[in-house]
Parts: sequence; C-alpha cells; structure tokens
Amino acid sequence: MPIRLLDADSAAKIAAGEVVERPASAAKELIENAIDAGATDIRVDLRDGGLSLLRVVDNGCGIPSDELGLAFERHATSKIGSIDDLATVATLGFRGEALPSIAAVAQVSLASRAEGAASGCHMQVHGGQIVEQGSAGCPPGTSVSVRELFFNTPARRKFLKTPLAEGGQVTRVVGQFALAYPGIGFSLTADGKTVFQSSGRGQLLDVVARLYGPEVARGMLPVELSGADPGPSGRAAAETASLVVRGCVSQPSLSRSSRAQLSLFVNGRCIQARGLLHAIEEAYASLLMVGRHPLAVLHLSLDPSLLDVNVHPAKAEVKFANERAVASRLHQAVHAAVARYAPV
Ligand code: ADP
Ligand code: MG
Repeated sequence: MPIRLLDADSAAKIAAGEVVERPASAAKELIENAIDAGATDIRVDLRDGGLSLLRVVDNGCGIPSDELGLAFERHATSKIGSIDDLATVATLGFRGEALPSIAAVAQVSLASRAEGAASGCHMQVHGGQIVEQGSAGCPPGTSVSVRELFFNTPARRKFLKTPLAEGGQVTRVVGQFALAYPGIGFSLTADGKTVFQSSGRGQLLDVVARLYGPEVARGMLPVELSGADPGPSGRAAAETASLVVRGCVSQPSLSRSSRAQLSLFVNGRCIQARGLLHAIEEAYASLLMVGRHPLAVLHLSLDPSLLDVNVHPAKAEVKFANERAVASRLHQAVHAAVARYAPV
C-alpha cells in the first residue's frame, strides 16, 4: 500500500487506543480530571462493569459553558500553556487527550456547572461527533457518562473481559485513588449496589481499613521521612533534598503472595516502578519469607522538576532525575519503620 494519511475518524480511534483500553482506563482518566478540578467528593457508578455505563460525578470547579466545546478537542487543556510548563505541572492531566479519546470510542454525555455560574451546560458526543449541546440545570461540578464503550470499535470490544472482571479493575482503580487521596471522599456503585466508599476525612489508615480490612489497618507501621540522606552530599543529596516519603507498610508478619497491595504514589500519581518496589521489599531483608510481599501505601513527594511525567501513554510510569537516590531513601524510610517494630 502506498503511504497515505489516515482519515480523521481512523486517526482518532487509533489515538484513543493509547489512552482507553478498558473501562478502568477511562475511569482513571475521568477521576484524574475530577481531582484536577479540586473535587472533594467523587462518585463512580457502573453498569455491567462499566461496559454499558461508566459515570463519574464530581463537585469540582466545573467547566465554563463557553469552554465546553473545546474540552472534547484533541490537545485542548486548561492545565499547561506550553511544553515548558511540564517541568512544574502539578495536575494529573496535561495532554488534553482523555475526553476526545473516550468520546471517539463511546457515547459520552457531559454536564457541568462552573463555580459561580448561574446555570450549567451539557454536551453529547457519540463516536467523536457532537450530537447535542446546550444549557442545562445541573449542580455545581461535572458529571461524565460513558455509555457503550467501544460500540464503534468491535476489535477493541472483543478484548474486553466479563463485566465482573472489568468492574473489578475499576474497583481497583477507585481504591488506588482513595489511597492516594484520603482527603477526597470516593464512592463506587455497581449496578446500584455500593461496592466501596471512603470518608474523605483525610486518614490514610481509614482508607486502608475500608479497602483491606481493619485487621490489616491495625498491622500497618507508619513511615515518615523527609529530605536527603544527611550523610553524603553532592548530586544525590540535591536530587532528594525535596523528597518526602509518608504512608504505611505492613508488619513483617503480615504479607501477601503478590505485589497487588503495594501502592506507590509520586506527587499524587499512582505509578509502577519496579526499582522502587524492590527497594521497599529489600528493606524487610530476611524478615519476609521467599515469595511473600509486604503491603504498603507510600506517598512520595518530590520537586516536580526532578520528574518526567510524560514518558508513558497512560501516565503509569514516571522518570526520575535520580531514581537510585530516591530508591535508597525509600529503602531507608521503610527500613526505619520495620526496624522500630522488629529490632534485630
Ligand atoms: P487534560 O486533563 O489532559 O487537560 P482532558 O481531555 O482530560 O485533558 O480534559 C480536557 C479539559 O477539560 C481539561 O483540561 C479541563 O479543563 C476540562 N475538564 C475535563 N474534565 C473536567 C472535570 N471533571 N471538571 C472540570 N474540568 C474538566
Ligand atoms: Mg485529563
């Protein structure tokens, strides 16, 4: 075949593939938007595991009526003005791709009322086409309903699992956000039944108890460390001077057969980082049996200029200026918590 430009519809669906793989990935993007909007209360509702409906309702700042049209345009964002802002970005989103991507492969309706606005606005986009738009009476905040995900991309739909499995993944995503943001109240319902709820009162252990049970919450050890290692100076010290590690890890007697309950957040993002997970486990040394893994919820915060958050399509990984130095401090933080509990 000769080289040709793809038509806009195909291009949009292909681009969407990077962002939206399943209901859980759409849920992640919509929850990120709600958090970026300053919401303190985020409600997620599912029908059929999110396959027929995924709705995220927030009480955040809302979208002004005159900006709503832009929200569904690719590369339209209120979060950065140019690439230079990425070095200091404090929001979870910045690419302006989530809403257009989701709307390219589903039937999306969005209703929103901006802070201080007398009335709200709504818009429906089906497979990338605006089918309805107007003003609406709605409470302050934003509600996004995603119906019939992949209705126009059967190849994608084929790869979805059962509603139960897909719903389970959404549940996991909501749980991770609740751990990352104990100050935000989350609730999740599936087919009308409440599956998960967090109070939003700001206590991490409350969320741990909700998610993993009160026994686990009682078996967690607090972790708290800030700044660089007081010993060596130089580059590693400069690159960890702003580091704060906070959260909790399990007592050595409390462990799991997988890493599923090891959660790591960097500047509020849930990230996968093998090197850092390894550093956490290493801190237990011989206290854990082979094949066992601790539970952990660790929040790292770091000067954003020491992170590249734009290295992964789903933003599930970040690149550190000095991952080794961060891993070393993380190791020390966890080791201190464990040693305090079980001195050797
Ligand atoms: P990004 O989050 O990368 O900016 P999105 O496509 O997710 O891109 O959203 C586009 C824009 O729409 C956002 O920059 C924001 O201004 C607005 N927006 C989306 N969701 C919400 C929400 N729940 N509350 C307020 N504004 C929102
Ligand atoms: Mg976004």
